[in-house]
Amino acid sequence: MSTIAAIATPRAVGGISVIRISGEKAIEIAEKVFFPVSGKKVSEMKGYTCAFGKVKSADGELDEGILTIFRAPKSYTGEDVAEISCHGGIFVTNEVLRAVIAAGAEPAQAGEFTKRAFLNGKLSLTQAEAVADIIAAQGRQLHKCALSLHEGALFKRVKAVSDSLVHLLGELAAWVDYPEEDIPEVDASNMLITLGKAVSELKKILKTYDEGKILREGIDTAIIGKPNVGKSTLMNLLLGYERSIVTEIAGTTRDIVEESARLGDIVLRLSDTAGIRKTGDVVENIGVSLSLKKLDAAQLVIAVFDNSKELSHEDFQIIEKLQGKTAVAVINKCDKENMLDKAFIYENFENVVEISAKDEKSLDVLREKIEKIFKTSEIDPSAGVIANERQKRCVQMATSSLEDAVFALESGQTLDAVTVLIDEGVSYLLELTGERVSEAVVNEVFSHFCVGK
Ligand code: GDP
Repeated sequence: MSTIAAIATPRAVGGISVIRISGEKAIEIAEKVFFPVSGKKVSEMKGYTCAFGKVKSADGELDEGILTIFRAPKSYTGEDVAEISCHGGIFVTNEVLRAVIAAGAEPAQAGEFTKRAFLNGKLSLTQAEAVADIIAAQGRQLHKCALSLHEGALFKRVKAVSDSLVHLLGELAAWVDYPEEDIPEVDASNMLITLGKAVSELKKILKTYDEGKILREGIDTAIIGKPNVGKSTLMNLLLGYERSIVTEIAGTTRDIVEESARLGDIVLRLSDTAGIRKTGDVVENIGVSLSLKKLDAAQLVIAVFDNSKELSHEDFQIIEKLQGKTAVAVINKCDKENMLDKAFIYENFENVVEISAKDEKSLDVLREKIEKIFKTSEIDPSAGVIANERQKRCVQMATSSLEDAVFALESGQTLDAVTVLIDEGVSYLLELTGERVSEAVVNEVFSHFCVGK
């Protein structure tokens, strides 16, 4: 296999940049461009050691830096790896990479280092995918999920299921292939128990996808309420004053803006913020089908009511519109004297918070409520969580094959037919973990990576 190289750090100015070289000739190539000040030869460096020295191209000295050597198989990719840490300028970093390529390395494709790690058995496919997730994780809980995926939590969970099925397949094969031998008959009811357990575990695993999705993608949120109840104030609190958009937009075209507010581990995607902020006219529009669609599309509606005013016709209209929706009723302006019929709000909403949008502490109250609604704090990252569409599809397909197998068994079809279905289910699980996977799938997974990873 060729020896590849790429810049492993972001394409931006920073303290240091790392140029990673991996492959059979990694150390030989490093020796051509890196010269330790100690005079020691790079080819004599042991794994897990580094040296300070000069980086040179054919044209002369480029920089000084640190070379770290990893000897196969004890490296990220499982191959010999040399990493040059140089000064983090874009120009100098590119020049060092250029020198490395001139010395015989090939530019790495996106995700190629991690792909090699997978092909060399350093990582399972789900662990490799977790590498991308760790890099992308924006919040603590999501980061924990990615870490546990990286530690192989999902792999182990899925493997336990596939192992039990492989065991069953073994028994079935023996029974089908050697009927004349003295092999205990495979008992249909035992098989049903094993299959049932597998299906129920897979369904549990499938559920983690939706839970994780909330963390990954955020919650589509609409804030509604009649004018003056404090929607803009709440929005500004959520977004933080400094970050809020204050630009006056001239003309009649109303910009639809989407902004995100981070509340603990949850990201609320607030649509049409400019509209609400500018005119507060959501209620005026509530009859307009567009707004209604918005409400329908929202996964969460924050309905704001004014504690200092009695409920009005518009409030009732909103309450009516929100029946059956996932909503939090915010009784706002609780620092003011109560005129609102709170009991009525509590009767009509499962989730109510009493806050003042002018008080920062309100954010915690709202966060706790939303976490409770979406149960995000109950997500157990260490249990193994499905992280992407590919993994989800594998679990879905496996589940449906196994359900078919149960049906086949119950309706008295041949054990051959049952075997085929279980085998199909197992192959989806092996595809998920990457134990049996086509090159096309592997390429697809790694194409989402960045170069240098
Ligand atoms: P919107 O029309 O729903 O967007 O309402 P605004 O956010 O513009 O707020 C209307 C008025 O209520 C403004 O004068 C705010 O300063 C005030 N306001 C908003 N929230 C509170 C609150 O919690 N307590 C008090 N006392 N005033 C508030």
